[in-house]
Amino acid sequence: RSGAPILELQDIRAGYGGITAVHGVSLSVRAGEVVALLGPNGAGKSTTQKVAAGVHPAQGGRLRYAGKDVTGIGARDAARAGVCLIPEGRGVFPNLSVRENLWMMTFTGRSREQIETDAYERFPILARRAKQTAGTMSGGEQQMLALSRGLACDPAVLLLDELSMGLAPLIVEQLYGQVAELARTGVAVLVVEQFATAVLDMADRAAVLVRGKVVYDGPPGRSLTDELANLYLGSS
Ligand code: ATP
Repeated sequence: RSGAPILELQDIRAGYGGITAVHGVSLSVRAGEVVALLGPNGAGKSTTQKVAAGVHPAQGGRLRYAGKDVTGIGARDAARAGVCLIPEGRGVFPNLSVRENLWMMTFTGRSREQIETDAYERFPILARRAKQTAGTMSGGEQQMLALSRGLACDPAVLLLDELSMGLAPLIVEQLYGQVAELARTGVAVLVVEQFATAVLDMADRAAVLVRGKVVYDGPPGRSLTDELANLYLGSS
């Protein structure tokens, strides 16, 4: 996992109206690397990730994909460039069926059949649920659908926000197993999680964000666990 970063945030500032939520964040992810972005509630993790996906504008700093400056890129162009965000709350359409949710991803240029076949190969349970209304599925099944939708854009960079939220440990393990598999094929992954344990087993690197600033960026080893212990124990 050497080589140049495929996703690079440089001194990013971002916020909402007059409020700055992200104060000069720099982060990078290389092909095949899984980077965990951790931190307490409201630290700016989701905002940082939305900037990375072109979903939210940066007020300052630069965004680079594969060495190219793409600051100001929109979400659609980012998706076409292979940067795919699976937002917090899963981003599936609850009133549509599983396959209708998948069909919406044809804007990526792939056919309905291709997208469905891929999804069902990865998560066979979705094939059995194809005609079911997405909102009536379990949280884990909805997250599998969300991941399948994200993968339809054939990502070079996959951005995952709170994948594990509200899910049973076994399901989380299964989902992260798929994510690890993707990383092995060279996809760069940036995972936001508030609670670290689920993701640290598979992360190559972790960054910790506190009040919009990176306070740790390094291996997911002892010093990170110490940092997190201080943070969560100290702030509660
Ligand atoms: P969480 O784990 O709770 O989702 P986070 O680390 O992802 O937190 P963000 O969601 O990026 O943090 O929020 C950072 C700050 O920006 C918070 O203070 C939040 O209240 C604020 N914020 C987020 N979204 C909006 C919005 N749409 N309008 C106004 N303020 C917002």
